[in-house]
Amino acid sequence: MFFSDLDRTLIYSNKFEINNEVLIEEKNGEAISYISSKTLFLLKKLCNKNLFVPVTTRTQEQFERISLFKTKYAIIENGAKILINGKIDKEWESHIFNSFKNQSTKSDMIFKEFEKYKGNWILKEKNVDDEFYYFIIDVNNIPENINNFFRFLKINNWNYSIQGRKMYFIPNFISKEKAVSYVVNKESIKKYFASGDSNLDLNMVLQATYNLIPLHAEINRVNGLNFTKKSGIKASEEILEKYIKLFKSIIN
Ligand SMILES: [Mg+2]
Repeated sequence: MFFSDLDRTLIYSNKFEINNEVLIEEKNGEAISYISSKTLFLLKKLCNKNLFVPVTTRTQEQFERISLFKTKYAIIENGAKILINGKIDKEWESHIFNSFKNQSTKSDMIFKEFEKYKGNWILKEKNVDDEFYYFIIDVNNIPENINNFFRFLKINNWNYSIQGRKMYFIPNFISKEKAVSYVVNKESIKKYFASGDSNLDLNMVLQATYNLIPLHAEINRVNGLNFTKKSGIKASEEILEKYIKLFKSIIN
């Protein structure tokens, strides 16, 4: 199976060089994301055989805006939710619910601490179903002492990620890798391939049998990661080609 992050791994905004790509997301009439036609063609082939699982930090609404992915599984909200044939998986939902009940550091404690660092560098604040938070930030004005807050998060079993203009705070029990493990066990998968570009993808790609990371990725350069030769939208084609080569016997 192929587990992959979407934004900046398989799909790209117009901040990247867009030529003959296919528009796959619009919001209020505005073009948002594109996919290479080759990547789209290869992904559709995988979807027909239930071999592709999108793994995204997008909310359900943001995910459903991308109309082309009809997959059996979809991991969304950074692993807080799993969709099976488009419907919320109840078993995973109650697992996450119980994790919230048992967590030692409640979100309000995190937010009380974060108040000390807030300022006009926070442009927009968003609470995703009370599961995690993201902020649109002014990246040029992040306060220098923010690392103290990041340390506080770490000690309290929360994670953070800054991806372009978005900054996320997420409890550790919500992660892409945990949701991927759940699907892997459910499907009794032995070997799988994973791709992603941010630090929220890091453990997911490291635990996979094979990984391939876009060259332009923001991800920490740690041992065990393989990078594409090309960057930008072409990296997605290289990822799909590599996957198809490795899993040829399953696909054909
Ligand atoms: Mg990404």
